[in-house]
Amino acid sequence: MNDTIVLGDIEIELTRKAVKHAHLSVHPPHGRVSLVAPAGTRLDVARAFAITKLAWIRQQRSQLRAQAREAPRRFVQRETHHLWGRRHLLAICIADAKPAVSLDHRRITLTIRPDTSAAKRAEVVHEWHKSLLHGVVPALIEKWERRLSVQVTAYFLQRMKTKWGSCNHRAGHIRLNTELVKKPKDLLEYVIVHEMLHLIEPNHSARFVELLTLHYPTWREARAELNELPLSAEVWREQVLLG
Ligand SMILES: [Zn+2]
Repeated sequence: MNDTIVLGDIEIELTRKAVKHAHLSVHPPHGRVSLVAPAGTRLDVARAFAITKLAWIRQQRSQLRAQAREAPRRFVQRETHHLWGRRHLLAICIADAKPAVSLDHRRITLTIRPDTSAAKRAEVVHEWHKSLLHGVVPALIEKWERRLSVQVTAYFLQRMKTKWGSCNHRAGHIRLNTELVKKPKDLLEYVIVHEMLHLIEPNHSARFVELLTLHYPTWREARAELNELPLSAEVWREQVLLG
């Protein structure tokens, strides 16, 4: 049986199914909200639950709006591109030469051959992003190796859809999302510290939070800033038990 829960400007489609847990979801692109609840859940119970999640729903919706503003890049003249937390304008220079990217003040100049596709342009910029990251990541890792008395055997840079970083604590590897090049450098450092702490404590346990608070006291602010813009258009979902 389906119902609609109306909470001010928010409408929630309630579906009852043979599920164990309730799933509240905010769906892209327009922020439609659905609640799947175990069969037999009373409307007032579902409604009371939804009320406790209002702040979360609003937060997900504002993220979707922010994401909608963040249109895919086409790598054309005067397009805005972020680098280390600052906006830059893209300048396109067509030349019969090896593709290259250069930076001066607030302008990124992308030199490409005639008829270079958007995908190829993106690839050239991506390689440049990697080289910028390779320019700063090793020094940050060394700094935190000394402070934390751990060793990173290798680090990798790659596109990641849902994470800013990851750690393989057995191998001593850390992976960093190349999108970090668009964020202020202190956020890159936060992700590095976070992943390196997993070499000491693999899980997000109380001990991990304790270590993070000790070594990077402003981690909550850093995490909030990183999550301002979502990484991909996936459904945000929160799994909860309905009482
Ligand atoms: Zn972690």
